[in-house]
Amino acid sequence: MIRRNICRLLVSNIDTLYCKRHFTNREKLIHSLIENAVDRSKIINSRREWGNVRQTILNHEQNRKHYTMDNIDALILGFCTTRKEYELGFSYLQFLKDENIKPNLATIGKYFKLLYHCNEKYYFIEKKKNPEDEEYILKCYQDLRSDYPILDSLSLENTILGVSMTHEWKKCLDFMEEIKITTIPNNISYSAIISAAFLNNEEELGWQLLEEMFRNGRNPGSVIFLTYLSNIGKMKNTAYGAEKLERLFTFFHENDFKCDKEVADAISSLYKKLDNHSSFTQVSYKGVCNNCHLKLNNYEVGQEEFDDLKKKLFKNVIIGRDLFVKTNPAELRKFQNFINDMDCFDVVLDGLNIAYSAGTKHSPQVLSAMVAAVVSFFVNQKKKVLVLGRIHMNRWPKEHWGYVTNTCSVFLTQNISQDDPYLLYCALHSGKDTIIVTRDLMRGHKFLLKYPKDKILFNRWLSQRQFQLLRINEEGKPIFRIPPSFTSVSQKNDDIWHIPYENETQVDKNDFHKSWLCLKCR
Ligand SMILES: [Zn+2]
Repeated sequence: MIRRNICRLLVSNIDTLYCKRHFTNREKLIHSLIENAVDRSKIINSRREWGNVRQTILNHEQNRKHYTMDNIDALILGFCTTRKEYELGFSYLQFLKDENIKPNLATIGKYFKLLYHCNEKYYFIEKKKNPEDEEYILKCYQDLRSDYPILDSLSLENTILGVSMTHEWKKCLDFMEEIKITTIPNNISYSAIISAAFLNNEEELGWQLLEEMFRNGRNPGSVIFLTYLSNIGKMKNTAYGAEKLERLFTFFHENDFKCDKEVADAISSLYKKLDNHSSFTQVSYKGVCNNCHLKLNNYEVGQEEFDDLKKKLFKNVIIGRDLFVKTNPAELRKFQNFINDMDCFDVVLDGLNIAYSAGTKHSPQVLSAMVAAVVSFFVNQKKKVLVLGRIHMNRWPKEHWGYVTNTCSVFLTQNISQDDPYLLYCALHSGKDTIIVTRDLMRGHKFLLKYPKDKILFNRWLSQRQFQLLRINEEGKPIFRIPPSFTSVSQKNDDIWHIPYENETQVDKNDFHKSWLCLKCR
């Protein structure tokens, strides 16, 4: 490989980079600058080359003192971590050591982050230790503490990443408490400390923190489960191992957690290693596993759970978001009167959403025919239907719109930017078993619910009640995507565990039935 002179390339390309108009953000510019250096030669390992990269950024006319001697090192290390150019990052650290440049708080933070990302698998999952790294991490940490007795939450989070990979990992528990004074620790620091607890056989502590992490709405990294699984893989007692897997799957079930493909692969290999059956499989829309042919469970939302959810949604989603702020007072009164006198409906339809499902450019004749076709589908089944829509729909041709207004209840609003909170309001008010017809996924609302358990229930209720119109067929019959008759959650059916996992290649969320593990003990 021909080694190139980074500095020369940088100097020759730097002006072109800065002159490109679409680079408006200075950070983007600087990143592009380093990227340019990195892309042109993956090897920067001479002090002079790093010195040149550093000076070029600092001295560039566009820099305007944004990057200084205080933050340039953290910037370059952070860049190397983001780009997963770990070796390059370590080479930069070596440069700092060789030049006797003492890393400051931000640089040490970035160093811990780099080390964690580079070594998490090696350290936690393969359980290999590097005493030199450990010594250096602890030295950096001690220097840091003596220079800065009080650390901010970001520095503490980064420190956790470093110290979790040493024998002094339990110090991270104190760092977590310090962070909690101002904020909730982030995903990666929770993941690091939980992995450390599992690695160091403090399993109960690991589970306790994992439960806490979920309660705090944080998402666990795969490293946690891979560490836990690799522990089981090392056990001699297979019965004990099976018990531990059972605990993991029950946790997945209770928290509605879907692991990723890497974790699914690890579960599958471990299951086979324990001399059991493991198959990657699909589950039919009716909930039948292609492998064992068992029917998966549908976990209905109970009446009490629904009532509780409804109370919280009314409070947080409907009132908390000032749904009615954009509505004029007369319209608000009208809606309130309507709700107070409202019957319970079997079906609540988002009229405009249905009308526009084939595009917004169609004539009112076509739009009204779409709504009428959907209404007639439910009316023919003797369902009580409510259509929510806009006042202008009253101007639609009477042929189809007349059918709608004669056969079901209609509530029309003037100018509302969002229809889905109205829909949600009416559906919740109507009752647990009301069907909601809209193509809108309404998933955004769950983020306004505070507790993860409530988010799980909301998703479950919605996924069991929502019909999505796909098209109207040639006979004028609506074709819906109907709720699947099983719940897409880890579950034990007879003695067989079914574990869903997220597949990155699977873009369509409706393909949830395609990636499952079917696990059977011998
Ligand atoms: Zn199965």
